[in-house]
Amino acid sequence: MRRIVILGTGTGGTPVANRLRRALAPDDASIVCVDRDDDHLYQPGLLYVPFGRRTLPSLTRSRRAQLHHGIDFVEGEVDAVELDARRVRLADGTVLDYDYLVVAAGARLAPEETEGLTGPGWMQRVFTFYSPAGAAALADAFARFNGGRLVVAVLDTLIKCPVAPLEFTFLAEDALAKRGVRDRVEIAYVTPLEGAFTRPIASQRLAWLLAERGVELVSSFATASVDGAAGRITSYDGRGVDFDLAVVIPAHDGPAFVTRSPGLGDALGFIPVDERTLQLPGHPEVFALGDATGLSTSKAGSVAHFESEVLVENLVATFDGRPPLARFDGHTNCFLELGRGEALLIDFNRDVEPVPGHYPGPVGLPLLAPSRLDHLGKLAFESLYWHALLPGHSIPGVASPMPRRGKRLSMLRHPAYAGGPR
Ligand SMILES: Cc1cc2nc3c(=O)[nH]c(=O)nc-3n(C[C@H](O)[C@H](O)[C@H](O)COP(=O)(O)OP(=O)(O)OC[C@H]3O[C@@H](n4cnc5c(N)ncnc54)[C@H](O)[C@@H]3O)c2cc1C
Repeated sequence: MRRIVILGTGTGGTPVANRLRRALAPDDASIVCVDRDDDHLYQPGLLYVPFGRRTLPSLTRSRRAQLHHGIDFVEGEVDAVELDARRVRLADGTVLDYDYLVVAAGARLAPEETEGLTGPGWMQRVFTFYSPAGAAALADAFARFNGGRLVVAVLDTLIKCPVAPLEFTFLAEDALAKRGVRDRVEIAYVTPLEGAFTRPIASQRLAWLLAERGVELVSSFATASVDGAAGRITSYDGRGVDFDLAVVIPAHDGPAFVTRSPGLGDALGFIPVDERTLQLPGHPEVFALGDATGLSTSKAGSVAHFESEVLVENLVATFDGRPPLARFDGHTNCFLELGRGEALLIDFNRDVEPVPGHYPGPVGLPLLAPSRLDHLGKLAFESLYWHALLPGHSIPGVASPMPRRGKRLSMLRHPAYAGGPR
């Protein structure tokens, strides 16, 4: 009997465990999942909490209950991994030996890394909706905000779900308009990127939509400090942005235990797995997926989902003594709320940036265009998450690798996009 230990039982770890349980006989492999608590939060739902549209309990379910029969769940804090001994140590002294290890421990918010951020004004006029407590606190502040400068600021380039801050901005603009106070509020979107998004075609479209909603785009702004008392964000090149209410996305690090585990990760705690096989170089028995990896792919739930398919195929191959032939192409898929009952869908991979068209084929959801259908798709996705993705069911069209059919790939050759913001 060989032992598989999975660290982190969230968006990536749960489907990996469930798919492995189906693929491997219980007599051949034991599967142990570890997490620090039993509360699985549907993180995309945090977006709606500040607007009073969702509550935290309605987004949370038992982690244990998402795991198939025959998977053990250990509630505990991972302290360190000893790669050479093939051992995981938990903070309470428990030791878990493994033959195969999957790290799916996500990314960690690191607000303390930005000067002044957690000082005066933090959770009073400076908030983040990226944590459950922050989203709940922001709901009260946003309900009271009826005039002044609202600034949504992305403080680092490496964050999970890079579209969520844009979604918040569009939803806030819509909510303030519905409240009848939009003309008393100035809104600015502050980003370290050269444009509204990382890839040229989507960046241009999103910048246009921000301008249409009267949102000022402040780009190439590398935040040095946040002064909550004075209501000012300052960049390393000396620029300043004033605010009455700031909604920030803090810097992210990898899981803290990774930096305590020699050979497992880089200085920030991210795991440098092979971008195609998802194996740790030099340790074919160690895999990682999701936000915890050091891959250049977006940190998104969809990525963790697509990676889970590839990872399981490769782990099972390694288990059976076969070469790991499955390849992850960087497939990423995100619905982006635009307010006014519309959303926009983007679908891309390492080589193909988001372009217009339809997903998952010539007939399907519109790509890179505001649409009611995409908004309904975003809302319907939550049910798919609990009932199909976490159990590890394959969904036709929603898989790795990225589908090319339906996309207007000819746009990629258009000279207007060459050299645009990436
Ligand atoms: C506001 C917001 C909106 C988002 N919207 C979207 C969206 O619309 N679409 C999309 O695709 N993605 C979205 N995401 C991103 C998505 O939620 C993450 O990318 C995804 O959850 C990553 O999966 P993961 O398995 O890598 O990490 P997680 O799902 O975060 O799971 C990591 C798990 O590891 C556990 N863990 C970590 N360290 C330890 C330790 N030391 N000991 C024990 N357990 C530990 C954690 O408790 C956690 O359960 C959003 C995220 C946020 C914050």
